[in-house]
Amino acid sequence: MADYGRLPGAVHQPWEWQERAACRGLQLKIFFHSHHERDPTRLRREAEAKAVCHRCPVISECRQHALRVQEPYGIWGGLSVEERITLLRTRRPTVPAHATQTPAFTTDVAPQ
Ligand code: SF4
Repeated sequence: MADYGRLPGAVHQPWEWQERAACRGLQLKIFFHSHHERDPTRLRREAEAKAVCHRCPVISECRQHALRVQEPYGIWGGLSVEERITLLRTRRPTVPAHATQTPAFTTDVAPQ
């Protein structure tokens, strides 16, 4: 009988949840603002992005990821950068000290 114990276990991809994302195939500009976007346009765009997020089957995984890695740009898990910063600060006792520092959140402009 073959010894399978020496073979690697099942491969789990930590990004598999993204394959079920409601935003797959949508334009990134819905989730990330441009340099020249002003408040009324931004508010409309963010509302549109959040509406997608709130019907997304992986909103929880997405939000946890964004909070864990401090995504510095865009709408993730139905939250803006400012909302994620606020959430991290209110969770401060359970978040490592380095995770509540704000340099990574200084802007919400999409990378070029
Ligand atoms: S929660 Fe929003 S940003 Fe995250 S995967 Fe779903 S649709 Fe995309």
